[in-house]
Amino acid sequence: MTFVITKLCQDCVDGDCLEVCPADCILQHKPSSNNSKLPNQLFIDPDDCLDCALCVPVCPWDAIYYDDDVPSVFQGDIELNALTVENPHEFVYPNISKSVKPSTDDIEANKRYWNLI
Ligand code: SF4
Ligand code: SF4
Repeated sequence: MTFVITKLCQDCVDGDCLEVCPADCILQHKPSSNNSKLPNQLFIDPDDCLDCALCVPVCPWDAIYYDDDVPSVFQGDIELNALTVENPHEFVYPNISKSVKPSTDDIEANKRYWNLI
């Protein structure tokens, strides 16, 4: 059991989840890493995640799911998040400046893009 950040976070990375995570287990891949093809989003280290769910309600894009509840379109994100354990040297704790909050329309458009609504 763990939580997974999905591609709904892609190109958002506002870092709201970082502020509440007690385990500091939300990471970003290094741009120079071998995984530079990874999407521009954050990832949860499943080994260090405490399963507290504190990050879920603060994510403005609704991007974080319990692993059993990850929608089919995002199943590949479970594996991508697990790369933080398999290749820990390629991930770092994010240094993020918070972005502007998305509007309701922005959030819905993002979900529509991924055929969630
Ligand atoms: S709060 Fe959500 S959208 Fe923002 S960085 Fe964290 S997972 Fe990504
Ligand atoms: S469930 Fe808790 S420990 Fe795991 S990433 Fe979210 S805030 Fe951090």
